[in-house]
Amino acid sequence: MNILLVAAEVSPYAKVGGLADMTSALPKAWQADGHSVTVVLPKYGAIDAKAHGLEKTDLTLAVPFGAWNEYASVWKAQLPGSSVPVYLIGSEDYFERPGIYGYHEGYEDNDRRFIFLSKAAFELAKALGMRPDVIHAHDYHTAPCMPLLKVIYRHQPEFAGTRGVFTIHNMAYQGYYDPIRAMDFCGFPMEDFYPGAWYEQDGAFNCLKAGIMFADKVTTVSPTYAQEIRWTPEGMGLQSALQARGADLIGVLNGIDTDEWSPANDPFLALPYDVDSIEKKQVLKSILLAEHGCYPHNVDNDLPLIGMVTRLTEQKGISIFFNAIQAFIERNACRLVVLGSGDRAAESRLRELAAAYPSNVIVHTGYNNALSHQIQAASDFYLMPSKFEPCGLTQMYAMAYGTVPIVRAVGGLADSVTAYDPVTFHGTGFRFSAYTAEACAAAIADALRVYRREPHWTHIRRNAMDTDMSITRAARRYVEVFGWTLEARPR
Ligand code: ADP
Repeated sequence: MNILLVAAEVSPYAKVGGLADMTSALPKAWQADGHSVTVVLPKYGAIDAKAHGLEKTDLTLAVPFGAWNEYASVWKAQLPGSSVPVYLIGSEDYFERPGIYGYHEGYEDNDRRFIFLSKAAFELAKALGMRPDVIHAHDYHTAPCMPLLKVIYRHQPEFAGTRGVFTIHNMAYQGYYDPIRAMDFCGFPMEDFYPGAWYEQDGAFNCLKAGIMFADKVTTVSPTYAQEIRWTPEGMGLQSALQARGADLIGVLNGIDTDEWSPANDPFLALPYDVDSIEKKQVLKSILLAEHGCYPHNVDNDLPLIGMVTRLTEQKGISIFFNAIQAFIERNACRLVVLGSGDRAAESRLRELAAAYPSNVIVHTGYNNALSHQIQAASDFYLMPSKFEPCGLTQMYAMAYGTVPIVRAVGGLADSVTAYDPVTFHGTGFRFSAYTAEACAAAIADALRVYRREPHWTHIRRNAMDTDMSITRAARRYVEVFGWTLEARPR
């Protein structure tokens, strides 16, 4: 199958969250299964062209924009660990700036930037002589690819047989654009924008809704989230659009790229380990604590360590987290290491906690890939008290690293973490349901009770590490979904 994947984030070039992990892991897995894949993303100013082996091509794309053309340069690279071609769309006007979506706040012309990217992907495919079977767009940024395919590009011979699949990684970000601008940039007639139109939500051009309505199939990143967004407020106002798509909305649980996330083969760890040498985690824990100045002054060095690597947003449960963890820290019942960035109030509250309990709490704000791996390896438990969670990858990384997840059982957390049962020894972690600090604290207390308590400690960690979360399963499920869209293709 010939797949064109278009996204605003692709690891390792540009990453804010799990979207980037998936848009690099899936293409590699598809290629390994014999499919032809091309990846398209912007060439952001922050991408180090030299470090990533980017080469400028001779191509200049004329991208039709309203009644005029805009121009894009094209850079080429290869996805590390594969020979998947990656094309990066260059534009001084749109992408040569700090950050990906904005600098603290979103850029005011994100409508223009990402419609430009979406259109450039089609123009690039034409310039390369590609006739994709499927164009696979991700989240609101590239959702315009779906209506662009159906309204404009399917009338061009290169895309006559192309189907559109749209994957939602998070309903919370929808891309509300001014309709006059967005319809014009896309090249859609303004008379097609009216209350109840497929583009329209609350009077705005809603990218996510347009992606949902115009795609041949819509996927989201876990089966539970696929249900939650249809039937609960997690649909963030788009429940009826999602219900309208009926069985075309499919939950495909994310998987993890074991080339990047495997403790036996992780260049960021001082000591590799696997399921049979899991005791080495203890050494990695001591190294992490020492390196970050969290010395065990007069306290038991062997406290359980709870890790978190997260965007600091309400989604990730920060409000219940603070109230839940405080008592454990005060009682010297555990240590905590947090790597997170986002909400400034949460960042400063974390720093205050670290200042108040220097031998129990390590806090790093900002983005740090190496440290994210080290935290996964060194921690005993991994806490994810999410308010909502489309899938979540970090709990899967934790399990792969033998770190026991403590999660709120929503979305993909419910689909990937099974509750440990001390009678049967089955299960991979600890779960709670109510979105309250008390429920979270109860789950933390349950978890801490198994720390180093045999045989449970061995069973739960082994169960976690033995769970198959490989990306191959997810990648094949996507191909199945792509196949369904192609069945309806006229011959
Ligand atoms: P989301 O996409 O909602 O942020 P996921 O769990 O799906 O959550 O993916 C988050 C990804 O981003 C993981 O790869 C995680 O390791 C990474 N990550 C999050 N915050 C940081 C950070 N501050 N530094 C480094 N990596 C981070």
